[in-house]
Amino acid sequence: MPRRDDGLYASMVLRGMSRRAFLKFSAAMATTLALPLSYAPRIAAAVTEAPRIPVIWLHGQACGGNTRALLQASDPTTAELLLDVVSVDYHETLMARSGASAEVVRRQAMTAAPNGYIAVVEGAIPMGDEGVYCTVGGRAFSEVVREVCGGAMATVALGSCAVDGGTPAAGGGTTGSVGVEHVVADTSTLINMPGCPVNIHNLAALIVHYATFKTLPVTDARHRPLFAYGNLLHNQCERRAHYEFGEYVEAWGDEGAQKGWCLYKMGCKGPETFANCPTVRYSDGTSWAVRAGHGCIGCTMPGFWDQMSPAYARLPGPLPFAPGVTADQMGMALVGGVAALTVVHGAASAVRLRRWDVEARRAAMSAEGGVVEGDVGAATTDEAVEVAKTDEAAEADEAPTIHGAPATREGAAEAPTTEDEAAESPTTEVEAATTDAAATTDGGAEPDGEAAEPDAETAETAEAADEAGAHDPGAGTP
Ligand code: SF4
Repeated sequence: MPRRDDGLYASMVLRGMSRRAFLKFSAAMATTLALPLSYAPRIAAAVTEAPRIPVIWLHGQACGGNTRALLQASDPTTAELLLDVVSVDYHETLMARSGASAEVVRRQAMTAAPNGYIAVVEGAIPMGDEGVYCTVGGRAFSEVVREVCGGAMATVALGSCAVDGGTPAAGGGTTGSVGVEHVVADTSTLINMPGCPVNIHNLAALIVHYATFKTLPVTDARHRPLFAYGNLLHNQCERRAHYEFGEYVEAWGDEGAQKGWCLYKMGCKGPETFANCPTVRYSDGTSWAVRAGHGCIGCTMPGFWDQMSPAYARLPGPLPFAPGVTADQMGMALVGGVAALTVVHGAASAVRLRRWDVEARRAAMSAEGGVVEGDVGAATTDEAVEVAKTDEAAEADEAPTIHGAPATREGAAEAPTTEDEAAESPTTEVEAATTDAAATTDGGAEPDGEAAEPDAETAETAEAADEAGAHDPGAGTP
């Protein structure tokens, strides 16, 4: 009988989690971490053996949205991982104890974990007037944050308020609110996870990453993990094709809105925002803002209440990552670029079609011994006829299906028809190579004659991944 202290997986088994659900969870975690699905078995193995990771969760100036996101995760694996398995030993909002008794629990949690603990900070930290605007146990919240984060093996600033002050700091604020980064002495183990609220699935992935690789994930200069904040949201959006084709929602409820067109003109901040919302989604992976018909408000970006306002109009000022360029200028440049590429592609196609047409007419005329008209000039010499035949033979595989060209050229009658000629045909060689390759791979026929049996764990995981709707994050990226 497994015991809770035997590790994460033992705790999950005690909670009644099936092996299949566990593999499904591991596949989903691999996807969130932007890892190939082949990592799922490794994640499953690491989580199976990983010890409990105590979490001390502090709560400063915030609405509690991140805690609500945690509690409302109906996906039992994510909620259980964080609340029970990982073990939130101290959570000011959720715990039954209060006052001095709660302080005792916090101190015990800080000293009891032999391998350290993870400190999670939710909410902004007021520094004005000696921190009087938020106190815990009679002490300024900033003092508590310094003490708890100072002894942690990693600190997670969860949600935009904890990252840069968020709502309490909007418009300058009145309490001198700042993010964790400006309070702790050492930022080398700080992970910033902005969002309003954060996607709790990303927090679970962060902890799984630590359990699997024994290190914190790679971050950008703002301490944000790249697996969650490394890509432009706009590039992952399911409405991106409508953006390219200039199909925009012009008013709420219009035809474009009903057809799911791009929300750029309604103020969507996707082109200025770095987050993985389109791929991980909220509400247990069912939806996210744009999918629900509302533009992105850029809540993962620094100072988003001020920098990403107004919410329902394009940003008038320069882009955060391209000073001197406004969102509209960037949008027009992108649309113009796509239009230019379309024109170039069309012109190139037209030239190609015209060339094929000319070739076809040249072959037809040469076969009849007549005069070739137009662009090819009066090519009536034997030399010209030979050139036409050579060109035609070289393009024998490119059976023209274009408009205006004959489906079967007369010259095709001159194509090699004997067995010897056919054996030398490039097409035949390719087919032979393909056949060889198929003979090698089909059914796993290895050189030693043994069929390649897929690894049972991998097969089981892949099946679970299919169920989870997980996919290779690299696939389908626009
Ligand atoms: Fe999606 Fe918004 Fe970009 Fe349009 S502007 S493609 S809705 S992220």
